[in-house]
Amino acid sequence: EKMQVMGAREEKILVLVRLRPLSEKEVVANEVADWECINDTTILYRNSLREGSLFPSAYTFDRVFRGDCSTRQVHEEGTKQIALSVVSGINSSIFAYGQTSSGKTYTMNGITEQTVADIFDYINKHEERAFVLKFSAIEIYNEAIRDLLSSDNTPLRLRDDPERGTIVEKVMEETLRDWNHFNDLVSICEAQRQIGETSLNERSSRSHQILRLTVESSAREFLGKDNSTTLAASVNFVDLAGSERASQSLSAGTRLKEGCHINRSLLTLGTVIRKLSKGRNGHINYRDSKLTRILQPALGGNARTAIICTLSPARSHVEQTRNTLLFACCAK
Ligand code: ADP
Ligand code: MG
Repeated sequence: EKMQVMGAREEKILVLVRLRPLSEKEVVANEVADWECINDTTILYRNSLREGSLFPSAYTFDRVFRGDCSTRQVHEEGTKQIALSVVSGINSSIFAYGQTSSGKTYTMNGITEQTVADIFDYINKHEERAFVLKFSAIEIYNEAIRDLLSSDNTPLRLRDDPERGTIVEKVMEETLRDWNHFNDLVSICEAQRQIGETSLNERSSRSHQILRLTVESSAREFLGKDNSTTLAASVNFVDLAGSERASQSLSAGTRLKEGCHINRSLLTLGTVIRKLSKGRNGHINYRDSKLTRILQPALGGNARTAIICTLSPARSHVEQTRNTLLFACCAK
């Protein structure tokens, strides 16, 4: 048992890349797809106009998924093992990183759904244990935290608890009864996200959404006698702000107000991930942003982490696509 925990601590961040297909709109606009997955681990930039350029043209990761792969496949072959470690008491986080419109929400929603289905399935097959499955959902927008399960818009505060680490004060946590209950809660979150002055697209490009599933379980034969057999852990599904928020140059000028909001949580996450990828020891600046403070227990220690970098294949997006791949390279 101890050996396993030691092993987990050494584990690297799993870096997955998912290329989406060209959208119908892009096809109609005569967009060209310049990126191609040539096998399960390598993605290639193919632009005849740029032949002989200095760009690296092949990028290799733990796994790359082509435009015609389903989210189920991404989950089964990519994220399932990490997400399901929650039932064994191991914290984890799964991130979607990429520019706006690259497929973060599409990917994260599907993976969250499938994980909930996996957990219910696991619970049904393990009658020897009693399980409690909890769900919470928050959004971080301009470094303010909002509860997506509550219609109260008062920002939530973070507090340092000596035993539990950083906690989000007063966040609503619902105990999931069944699949329909989960679906209802997801609909509430979606409705909550649409409230506010900015359009949904504008908001989702600037905010981070964290859905958290917490699984607690104890062996039935010891129920009420001994709590030493209780396991508890969380898996976090993080739909990040558009990665253009980390790379946008301040000198681009035009949108001055916007320029002030180079996304602090996204930038800090980048440095935290880069440090973690070099090993989980040493000082890591979790405290520099709300996102990393909240996720610290699901990033450090023996927690497991997967990042899905989502890409648009379109020629007009090549700069952002390359930025995303550079981020992915730093994380592996
Ligand atoms: P983001 O959250 O990164 O801004 P979305 O997830 O909203 O992007 O995706 C943008 C559009 O592309 C949506 O209409 C979505 O349904 C579609 N899409 C994204 N990824 C895929 C995919 N792998 N296959 C098919 N359609 C996709
Ligand atoms: Mg989105």
